[in-house]
Amino acid sequence: MKIRVGHLYPDYLNIYADRGNIAVVAERARARGHELDVRALGMGDGVPVGEVDLFYIGGGQDREQALVAHDLVRKREALHESVERGAAVLAVCGGYQLLGRHYVDVAGTKLPGVGLLPLHTVAGARRMIGDVLLDCAWAGKTLAGFENHAGRTMLDEGAEPLGRVVSGFGNDGRSGHEGCRYRRVYATYLHGPLLPRNPWFADLLLQEALAHAGVETLLEPLPDELERAAHAVSAERARTRGGRV
Ligand code: GLN
Repeated sequence: MKIRVGHLYPDYLNIYADRGNIAVVAERARARGHELDVRALGMGDGVPVGEVDLFYIGGGQDREQALVAHDLVRKREALHESVERGAAVLAVCGGYQLLGRHYVDVAGTKLPGVGLLPLHTVAGARRMIGDVLLDCAWAGKTLAGFENHAGRTMLDEGAEPLGRVVSGFGNDGRSGHEGCRYRRVYATYLHGPLLPRNPWFADLLLQEALAHAGVETLLEPLPDELERAAHAVSAERARTRGGRV
């Protein structure tokens, strides 16, 4: 099966080599006999509704976000329709912020978001930097990663976070929430790349993308020894020196 990936603004939003997440999904797909067909969705490009199984939008600093925000808003309707029709989305940091209603950056400029997720973000004076460990009770798993953001993200009442912060700051350093999920949209501050050390999450995205493509399948497990070791190191680092709330 060919899994169609739409990579939003790969030239602008790729901080900490976030694009490595796609390499992980590609490799894990290949191990199960599937292939990724990755196309860039950049400035001025249309979003082919129904023809993208997995969207990916990475992180960027305020400057890059300001460059893409208005173009992203032009893709709003198509993105909403895609998500309502079951497309999967992974959004990281700067990309996460732009999926909310708006982001007020460090300079006080209000950037519009696409409103796919019930939240908004306002930058604060102190950056929230460090290793993070999340408890994703909905999946019975943990996520380990690294955050570096000035934005404080406030979820609307009733919105589902991606996880509860065990160590680190998370969305705003106060609520104990990190990230957001809605239908098949998963958004997080965890950079990375995030997926090499959280293989269950990579497989979840792969499975969601396959479901959109019409393939309901259980992925057979992979050995994942290195991945599990990487997760353990990262989780331990978060426990011992993750940012304190
Ligand atoms: N500019 C945003 C912030 O600092 C996002 C940063 C990022 O993607 N690392 O909050």
